[in-house]
Amino acid sequence: MTNIILLGPPGAGKGTQARRLVEERGLVQLSTGDMLREARTSGTEMGKKVAAVMDRGDLVTDDIVIGLIEEKLKTARAKGFIFDGFPRTLAQADALGALLKRSGQELDAVIEMRVDDEALVDRISGRYTCGNCGEVYHDRTKPTAKPGVCDVCGSTDLRRRADDNAESLKQRLMEYYKKTSPLMGYYYAAGELFTVDGLADIDAVAKSIADVLDRAKGA
Ligand code: ADP
Ligand code: ADP
Ligand code: ZN
Repeated sequence: MTNIILLGPPGAGKGTQARRLVEERGLVQLSTGDMLREARTSGTEMGKKVAAVMDRGDLVTDDIVIGLIEEKLKTARAKGFIFDGFPRTLAQADALGALLKRSGQELDAVIEMRVDDEALVDRISGRYTCGNCGEVYHDRTKPTAKPGVCDVCGSTDLRRRADDNAESLKQRLMEYYKKTSPLMGYYYAAGELFTVDGLADIDAVAKSIADVLDRAKGA
């Protein structure tokens, strides 16, 4: 089993790298952001409850996201998981530790993707995704080859997120620094934290992550 957490502020490139790890290593991506957006689109009670919270850029309550992850860990069969956007609070980190332990698993690496705030604004304001297959694009750094058409699946359903605006991003960054950045100390103390330069181009970041995983496995 290889279980990895990708840790970093909104726009750091977690989703982009998680999808590569799925492709290259056959791991399963668990993105609480994607799960919550799915709940919104399908109009479940929970989805309705969290919509306004997400659009404001606040964090959804711990019990909701922990419940989502618990459900997936119970049902998904995988060589390992990439946790993308989870945990985001110390309580979530404790809960994940307990869930993994209960199923006899452990974390191999927590990878901090370090990116400065200026770059995040640029990344978030240019981001769009394929509504069909979830591929992540950017107006400047990773546009589709053909305008308006997904490279991966050919869908023309390309979307921008409601919360990818300047005001919501400001709030998301505040939430990140207040509630999520303490996880760096938490995992550092556990000897599980590795840091990569998230400002490098997508291939270079993927290479740094691969190096970390080789090192973590060898340790
Ligand atoms: P980004 O990719 O920009 O970091 P996500 O897609 O991970 O954003 O999350 C979008 C929104 O979903 C967050 O702003 C928050 O409202 C909610 N969310 C996602 N994951 C969590 C989590 N682990 N805990 C609390 N809220 C979450
Ligand atoms: P996160 O999941 O951390 O919020 P994403 O993977 O969605 O971040 O990436 C945010 C935006 O930045 C997307 O538009 C993506 O195409 C782009 N992006 C991701 N990684 C890089 C990179 N290393 N260099 C330049 N742009 C990137
Ligand atoms: Zn697609």
